[in-house]
Amino acid sequence: MAGEVVEVGAEALGGFAVGDRVQSIAAVPCGDCYECKKGWMEVCQNQTSVGYQYDGGFAEYMIVPEQVLKVDGLNRIPDNVGFDEGSAAEPFACAINAQEQLGIEEGDFVVVFGAGPIGCMHIRIARGVHKAGTIVLVDVNAERLKMSADAVQPDATIDASKVDVVAEVMKMTDGRGADVIITATPANVTQEQAISMAARNGRISFFVGLPKNDPYIQCDSNLVHYRQLHIHGANGSSPAHNKRALEYISTGQVPVKDLITKHIPLEDVLQAFDIVAKGEAIKVTVEP
Ligand SMILES: [Zn+2]
Repeated sequence: MAGEVVEVGAEALGGFAVGDRVQSIAAVPCGDCYECKKGWMEVCQNQTSVGYQYDGGFAEYMIVPEQVLKVDGLNRIPDNVGFDEGSAAEPFACAINAQEQLGIEEGDFVVVFGAGPIGCMHIRIARGVHKAGTIVLVDVNAERLKMSADAVQPDATIDASKVDVVAEVMKMTDGRGADVIITATPANVTQEQAISMAARNGRISFFVGLPKNDPYIQCDSNLVHYRQLHIHGANGSSPAHNKRALEYISTGQVPVKDLITKHIPLEDVLQAFDIVAKGEAIKVTVEP
């Protein structure tokens, strides 16, 4: 969420003033638990969320919860960053969190499963921040794969509905496998394919969760053991990741403007859900 401050509570933290342009975190850590104190705010035990416990951003006005200010979760938007880009900082922050765990090195061969907005952001971050080498985007929906590939220009795409994606990656890497694999889709099979295509010392992010009623995959544990694989989870983002996202957008290291392909007025918000459900846009913003 992003917007302009129109009123400031008498005891509000942060020194904000009317007219400030701000972006808010969505997942709100408590700031007090063991994980928060360790600096792992994205896995806070007592996490609440704007849109669940607090009224959210599909409104002309919203109140920024006290708890957001308490954990330094309201960020000033740099002057050269639009509200639409600011609103994209949160999903972007989640991708930053995941990639920071992967130790991506310059030149690494990276595979991203899922040609949605998050897959696109992953490609931009891997390239713009971590200087990855060859980046391959994989999806089973040819149209979405093309739309996203046109936008973020991966080095190659694989339509996994047509070819054996593991064999294809092995061929592209002369049998070595991919250094980094990010699964940005809730399809169980992609996590299994990620393990099968990982290079020695390969790093995998199970970025997107699986369906609640079917969260299991088959894992060749010996591949993990002998190839020394590193499998990471990723749960949302911390306030610090949100700040970093705004910074990367502002410096141009990771552009997001062109990924926002639809701007929908608030009164048509239901249409925005349809567009997302049908995969007709990369990123959609709802604007009062
Ligand atoms: Zn906490």
